[in-house]
Parts: sequence; C-alpha cells; structure tokens
Amino acid sequence: MEGNRISYHDSVRKGYERIKKDGMVSIWDRFEAQGFGGMPDKRCPFCLKGARCDLCSNGPCRADASIDKRGVCGITADGMAMRMMLLRNVMGASTYHYHTEQTIKTLRATAQGKTPYHISEPEKLRSFAKRLGIDSTGTVNDVAVRLCDFAEQDFNKPYDCPSKIVEALAPKERQEVWNKLGIFPGGIYGEMMLSTSSCLTNVDGYYASLALKAMRLGISMAYQSQIVNEFCQDILYNIPRPHKMRVNLGVLDPDYVNVLPNGHEPFLGFAMVQLARKSEWQQKAKDVGAKGLRIIANIETGQEMIQRWEMDDVFYGFTGNWIMQEAVLASGCIDIFVCDMNCCMPIDPLYAEKYKFKLIPVSEVVAFEGIDERLNYIPEEAEKQAEKLLQMAVDNFKERRKSVAPLSGLDMNEAIVGFSTESIVEALGGSIDPLLNALKDGTIKGVAGLISCTTLRDKGQDVHTVDIAKELIKNDILVLSMGCGSGGLQVAGLCSLEAKEFAGPGLKSLCELLKIPPILSYGTCTDTGRVADLIGIVSNALGDIPVPDLPIVAVAPEYMEQKATIDAVFSLAFGLYTYVNPVPTVTGGPDLVKLLTEDCKDLTGGILHVETDAKEAVKNILDHIESNRKKLGLN
Ligand code: SF4
Ligand code: SF4
Repeated sequence: MEGNRISYHDSVRKGYERIKKDGMVSIWDRFEAQGFGGMPDKRCPFCLKGARCDLCSNGPCRADASIDKRGVCGITADGMAMRMMLLRNVMGASTYHYHTEQTIKTLRATAQGKTPYHISEPEKLRSFAKRLGIDSTGTVNDVAVRLCDFAEQDFNKPYDCPSKIVEALAPKERQEVWNKLGIFPGGIYGEMMLSTSSCLTNVDGYYASLALKAMRLGISMAYQSQIVNEFCQDILYNIPRPHKMRVNLGVLDPDYVNVLPNGHEPFLGFAMVQLARKSEWQQKAKDVGAKGLRIIANIETGQEMIQRWEMDDVFYGFTGNWIMQEAVLASGCIDIFVCDMNCCMPIDPLYAEKYKFKLIPVSEVVAFEGIDERLNYIPEEAEKQAEKLLQMAVDNFKERRKSVAPLSGLDMNEAIVGFSTESIVEALGGSIDPLLNALKDGTIKGVAGLISCTTLRDKGQDVHTVDIAKELIKNDILVLSMGCGSGGLQVAGLCSLEAKEFAGPGLKSLCELLKIPPILSYGTCTDTGRVADLIGIVSNALGDIPVPDLPIVAVAPEYMEQKATIDAVFSLAFGLYTYVNPVPTVTGGPDLVKLLTEDCKDLTGGILHVETDAKEAVKNILDHIESNRKKLGLN
C-alpha cells in the first residue's frame, strides 16, 4: 500500500515502511490480502450486503431479496442483516458495560478507602446523585456508595421494568417517543438477554422487530453504561478541562523507559502516572541507564487520561488511535504495553517478540496466544499492580535499548484536549447562552458530534475523517469529536487554535472570541452518552425543542467495530440525523435499508445517511441542518 491509502499521518507511513523493512506483516498487508482477485476492497458480495448467515447447522446460507431467496429456515435478507447487526450491538453494549462495571467497582472501593485514588470531584458526585434522585447528603464517601448501589440495582432490573437511570437522565420528549414505540428499556443485563435470545434461530426473524430491540438496547447502553461510566470516572479522576497535550508518534523517545497503557479503561494508567511522578521511580529508570520513566497515553485509555490530566515530563503525550498500533509497537521505543479491555490486537505478541517489549493483559477479557503472564485489574490492588507493571518496564529497558534500533524523526504536535459539558460552559463564561446565541444568529450553522473509529475499509487511516471534519468546519459547523476519530483529528492538527484557519467565517470568529479550536476534543466513543446529555441540555435551553428538530447531527466517517454500531443505533433512537461510513453490511435488505434511511424518521425522528464521498456527505448534512434551522425560524 502507498501514501494516503496507508494513513493520513506521515508518522504512521514511516512506521509502515519500517515494519515492511523488518519483514513483519502489518494491518495494511493483511487488509490487502483479504481482497478478492488481488483487489484489496473487493470482498464477498453477500457478506458486504449482510445477506448471509451461519448461525445454525443448516447454513451457511445466502439470501437474495430480489428473487425472495431466503435462508433454509425462511429468514429474509432483511432479517439476516438486522439479526447480525443486533448481535454486533449486543457485543458493543456488553463491552461498554464491562468498562462501567469496573468503574463502579473502582468508585466503591475508593469510597471505602481501599484504592490509590480519591474522589476528585465531590460537587459532581453530589449533583449527579441529585439528578438520579439519590440522597446526596452526608459524607462524600457515603454518597458514592449510594450511587454505586443505585446504579447496580438499575443495571440488574428485568428488561420489562423501566430503568430509573433512563427516566432520570433522558429528555422527557424522548421518553414519550420511546414509550409510544415500546422501546423504553429496563436494566441493561435484561436488555442484552432480550436481544441475544431474540437472535436465536427461529425466534425473531422480523427485521423491524429486531431493529426496535436494538434501539432499546442502545438507549439502556447510552444512559446506564456510558453516562454512568464517564460521570463516575469524572468523579474519580477529574472533569475534563481544556489543556494542551503533545500528540503523534514523536512523543516516543527511545532513551526513556516508556510505559503504554492501552485499551479503554484508565484505572491502572492513572495509578502508574501517580507512581511515575515520584522521584524514586524516576531514579529506578535512571539506574538502568534511561533518562527517566514516562507514561505515554495510547488509543482510548490514553484519550480517557489526556482528557482529565495535564501533561508534564512524566505523563508525556498521546500517540494516536488504534490503526497505528503496529507503527507504535515497531517504533523500538516501547518497554511495556499494558492491555486493558478493547483495542489490543491479536497480532501484538509477534511485535512484542520482535521489538522486545513486555505485553501484559490487565483485564480478564483480554488474552493473547503465547502470552501467559497477566495481572487482572483489581481496584483494591491497583497500586501494587501499577508498581509491578512499572518494574517490568524498567527491567525491560536495557535489553530493548541494546537490541532494537529505534525509529527516529517522528512528528510531534500539540492539541487542545479536555472539553466536556462543564468545561464548555466554563469556556463560555458560565452559561451555555453564548453557544445558543451563536447558533441562533447563524454565526455557526450547527453542531456535529463526530463519534468515529478509524478503518481501512475504503481509504487510509483517518483520511475520510479529516476530509469530513474539514468540510464541516469550513461550513461553520462546530465539531465535538469523540472516539478514535478524535485521536486522528488531534494528530492531524485540527484540534488546535491554528485550525481556525480551516473554519468558515462564523466559526472562525467564534474560535477567536472564545479561544477554542473549531474541533473540540470531547473524549472517547464512551462519551456518546455525555454528548447526548449535552444535547438534552441544549434542547431544554431552547424551549424543549424535540431532538430531531435541532441543528445538530451525529457523524461517524470511519466507523469500525461493534461498539460503534450500538452508538449509531442509539443515535437513531435519540432522533439524530446520523451519517455513517463505510457502507454498513445491511444493503442486501431493501426493507431494512428503507426502515433505517426513510421510515425511522417517522418513528424516532432519526435518519441514517450513508455516503462515501465527503463533499456529498457534508452537503446532505448541511441540507438537513438548514431545513431544521428553517423549521425553528432561524436565519
Ligand atoms: S439460522 Fe437460518 S439462515 Fe442462519 S444458517 Fe440457520 S437456516 Fe441458515
Ligand atoms: S469503538 Fe471505535 S472509537 Fe471506540 S475504541 Fe473502538 S475503534 Fe476506537
């Protein structure tokens, strides 16, 4: 592969060249090898359309809606495509919720004084408890335990018993819509059971029913998993507030002991930063010949961390998103790769062997072929576990430095990270009004929540995300970026004050006035719930305008994995215009496509839009925003 087909980022292309030179196989080569007839993008047409199934022994089956060819059991192509989508959604919801469970465990243990963490945001704890209808009086630790009890009870409610968390947090107008459609969810475990059971052979083969089940699962996931998770992490580790952060592969310096927490859960990462900031640990690194010990933020664990904690010479910077993983690992600068839930690749053991670093899973859900050593995260043992991990890294340094030539000359730049609802209000001078006024008077035309992964499906890493983001800001759409896509935009230099030069005149003037970038780093894909909460606040402040009528859209220019699919389904249930790319594997089901792209509008107000061309995609987004502005009487 070459140039832009590899990645938008020069540093990653350099990494790719090095991997090739070293005779290693990378994600880019493996992608090419999957293509039919030597064409990297050409794949099985039935798979591409979602019209295939191998769930039972009568299959694998293929379906063709144009001639009413069905699976052996009689399921249509629409049913096949939606059933597989729902199973993906269950995986996504389950993984989000796995993280939430760990957060609740951590908060509870912290409130009991058993972790190296403390409650950093007591005010947020009390105000969140109040919103949920929990007694917020008494000591901070008492409130935290009550919050954990309340959340766990809600997660465990049967699916037919309405979730109190959703009742307390979701906009009332949305709740009415969901009740009318029969998709108001119960507890998330029950919802996952309802969805999974429905997908068994000969249970629910009706695409529309499966789609509605996906939506109720999405709603429970957004409020019970995502919002609870992010708010509790704020309570523990700080509300994100804007600050500068070094980004890109140049943050890796081979002369330091480099520790990379990787995945989604920031617990051990924070514990390691706390330790590494002590002189005793810096000395240990110096004793083995290193200049010091650094914690380098990586992928979404890194994103959770950089949103909340400022950089220094120890917590040094952020590399990028998951597709650049092998470029990071091949840099010759890594001493330990600490793998929590999500985003560590099955190929990593081969890289650990070649580039001499320790590869340690720290979550029960993560495992690698050939790697036996692990340290499953236990909140009560976090400090000891962090010590062990740092020691492994220090012990690794000499051998790595002696035997692996580092990759040099990698780029480094700075991004402004750390936006959240609270910090946006702070940046606006204490009220959301300046943003609303800018929306009302047309200074900015609308807001896009860019919640995206990164994929090689039809372009290089982050190429389409950058194209879409640039096109949006050029047209005076303020972008809130989340997920791996946000990491891509940070590395691409678009989350900086200088990026205002790419913005249209209105957005540029707002950036100058408020000293903010045109793309606000709003966290990880887990922050989808947080952005829904912000949209609820905007809707309320504008006089309870229904969500579908707001000049706000969701965009996922490079969605990739199962978590992203449940985010998109939630976005549709929430009533948003939702742009996705690449084309999802549902196009073999014409009735399903019609439901998602046309009929959904009359159900929840959500619209799915699929388009591979960036300019065309943004043109459609602008048309939608303009029509909503007209509806609201805005110029
Ligand atoms: S569940 Fe139906 S479509 Fe799927 S493999 Fe079995 S018979 Fe074929
Ligand atoms: S779901 Fe997407 S954005 Fe989130 S971690 Fe996975 S690849 Fe990144």
